[in-house]
Amino acid sequence: MAARRVYADNAGTTALSKTALDAMMPYLTESFGNPSAIYSLGREAKKGLEAARAKVAAAIGAKSEEIYFTGSGTEADNWAIRGAAEIKSKKGKHIITSCIEHHAVSHTLGYLEKQGYEVTYLPVDNAGRVLAGDLNNAIRDDTILITIMTANNEIGTIQPIRELGAIAREKGILFHTDAIQAVGHIPIDVAGMNIDMMSIAAHKFRGPKGVGALYIKKGSYIPPLLYGGGQESKRRSSTENVAGAAGMAAALEEAVSNMSANIEKTTAMRERLITELLKIPFSQLTGDPENRLPGTASFVFECVEGEAMILMLDNAGICASSGSACSSASLDPSHVLLAIGLKHEVAHGSVRLSINETTTGEDIDYILETLPPIIDKLRSMSPLWEDKLSGKL
Ligand SMILES: *Cc1c(COP(=O)(O)O)cnc(C)c1O
Repeated sequence: MAARRVYADNAGTTALSKTALDAMMPYLTESFGNPSAIYSLGREAKKGLEAARAKVAAAIGAKSEEIYFTGSGTEADNWAIRGAAEIKSKKGKHIITSCIEHHAVSHTLGYLEKQGYEVTYLPVDNAGRVLAGDLNNAIRDDTILITIMTANNEIGTIQPIRELGAIAREKGILFHTDAIQAVGHIPIDVAGMNIDMMSIAAHKFRGPKGVGALYIKKGSYIPPLLYGGGQESKRRSSTENVAGAAGMAAALEEAVSNMSANIEKTTAMRERLITELLKIPFSQLTGDPENRLPGTASFVFECVEGEAMILMLDNAGICASSGSACSSASLDPSHVLLAIGLKHEVAHGSVRLSINETTTGEDIDYILETLPPIIDKLRSMSPLWEDKLSGKL
């Protein structure tokens, strides 16, 4: 057993907050009724569900009736994209996205390509930013949807969403953003940011897993995702996950009310990680040094295998990630790291440390004590390291 455990994979998932758990408990116990039932037990559950909807809406500058609860962030992404593609197919079949989206978006688009849709993948600069000019140039008469993530899950880069959304709005094109890494962590205002549809997942901001939401701007019609009993204004049938919605709402309300303090605390710890770990030779920060998520510190270390680093960190009690969890099963380096211009062999040495307000200064001390010797050890075993040191590589 390792001496201590440090959880530094909050971009992967977070621990449920106590506030969220407390908000969920009544709906898992005495107030278990079906919100569609007309007796008082059902009405109690319905009240809880609608209170949760109002809280989620308030946290992102939306109206209650614009929030649709889903079973996950992935579900919200799939619904927004497939729904928009279906409803707009008479106007055209061209969709614009970025080349650094989460697989919940990019694989949905890959499916649509097989159905005859055409997708333009916008490049990003070395910091992982989409340029407004590139979006402008990609728009065609048959463009029906633009989907660009608010913040990247691997490198933490925050996109200029307000500006990109304004371009879409001016051209009358639906604009969706996967804001799953951003909501609860940085200020989000759907109206001010020109967003038509936005995906959220509770477990990325200390809510429960298996609950998400799709914001759909009033007036934008997206066809139902599930047909059945007519729940969620007939657009996403199925008995509602009341406890999940209540947990999500409580976690989001808590995150938003503590946001400025959380950003300050988390950014300071993140900067300490960045400053100290960049002292390691042949290391590089990935993502935008300025416009990045408060809790995401992501790096590449040359001549080190990311997977090996993760396993050795795990041995020492530290949970971290190398690239995205989804691509860790394959040998290809992450599409995000390649898109920001890293060479294959460099991209293989990636580590993402994602912290939040529950992280302590001692946690950071422990990471800083533990990671550099691991990198030294792995480099001493690498056949490439000698060549790198002597300048041959
Ligand atoms: C986690 C994540 C998802 C997937 O959300 P789930 O709730 O796990 O389905 C999608 N997009 C981004 C950017 C994410 O970080």
